[in-house]
Amino acid sequence: RLKGLTIFVTGGAGFIGSAVLRHLLRNSHARVVNLDKLTYAANLGSLPGATENLNYAFEEQCICDAPGLRRLFEHYQPDAVLNLAAESHVDRSIDGPGEFIQTNIVGTFTLLQEALRYWRTLSPDKRARFRFQHISTDEVFGSLGEEGFFTETTPYSPNSPYSASKASSDHLVRAWHETYELPTLLTNCSNNYGPYHFLEKLIPHMIIKGLAGEQLPVYGDGKNVRDWLYVEDHATALTLVLEHGAVGETYNIGGRNERTNLHVVETICDLLDDLAPSTDGPRRRLISFVTDRPGHDRRYAIDASKLERDLGWSPVENFESGIEKTVRWYIEQKPWWQALLERRYAANRLGLTK
Ligand code: NAD
Repeated sequence: RLKGLTIFVTGGAGFIGSAVLRHLLRNSHARVVNLDKLTYAANLGSLPGATENLNYAFEEQCICDAPGLRRLFEHYQPDAVLNLAAESHVDRSIDGPGEFIQTNIVGTFTLLQEALRYWRTLSPDKRARFRFQHISTDEVFGSLGEEGFFTETTPYSPNSPYSASKASSDHLVRAWHETYELPTLLTNCSNNYGPYHFLEKLIPHMIIKGLAGEQLPVYGDGKNVRDWLYVEDHATALTLVLEHGAVGETYNIGGRNERTNLHVVETICDLLDDLAPSTDGPRRRLISFVTDRPGHDRRYAIDASKLERDLGWSPVENFESGIEKTVRWYIEQKPWWQALLERRYAANRLGLTK
């Protein structure tokens, strides 16, 4: 159904955006334009072969820059926008929230305004087909106790500057649909993991440190629970929502894979011991507990039954299969992450000594 369409993917050099691009280029025959500002989190190396693909174009573009966006809308005449451009790392939002307010709120506002301006110039047919899909997180819902799940009607209750900025952007998207009738779609997804994940995030961070035989610092008591989804399953869900989602609706995306952070790190240790044995003994010995992150949400868990029921989506990977694939990928793709480590900021940020 996407064949022949032109799709803007903002943030396409990031972790999830690159997975969406790889998925679209492989499966859709759509023309895909990657709009990315190329922040520290971007990596065009996550799109192997893309530049040779005639259906792919890259534009270095900030979503806060209205004139630049206007030019691109006029030039490419897209049929859809998938907005994945964001500042995404919670710890960074605590240290410096300004960029998060700028990109996640002002950027989403600017993109909505330019999409609306463009959408109003379209023929009735093309207007009806156009979609603005905003990609968001389950962190907007706040923290759960031992029981229950986030559904599409759970009230927003964000606790970090990151989740507050994402919550704001979700509200803007909703309002642009209700007020201006822009055909929007909104998705809120649980924690993603998989290949090409930037090294500061929990899973790649632990894999790389585990490989180097360094301490594995776990926040608090390690009992915080996250619901993990393999990134390629997220990409298929986003494509399905784009093709078949009902305009103005929200869909929760999650893999029913709740695990404590400690369980995740222990699983990585065990997989590394199997796949890349160390002579120094089992890697679980490297785990240490460090002062908790302020405002650290205790538990997230997604009820994805609306997406499963209405659009027939189900994830391919469970946590065990997905984490094994991921650990294998990092072991085999050392050049990809080694190049990132060589950028000084990344080495400093990770505190790696080897
Ligand atoms: P990421 O940090 O890996 O990538 C973000 C990309 O956006 C980068 O390529 C960066 O250069 C680009 N970008 C940042 N600011 C920009 C700007 N002003 N203009 C244009 N491009 C800009 O993030 P990710 O993990 O791929 O997340 C993508 C989206 O999915 C985010 O909106 C995030 O909130 C959401 N999300 C992430 C997760 C997760 O577990 N990673 C889960 C649910 C939802």
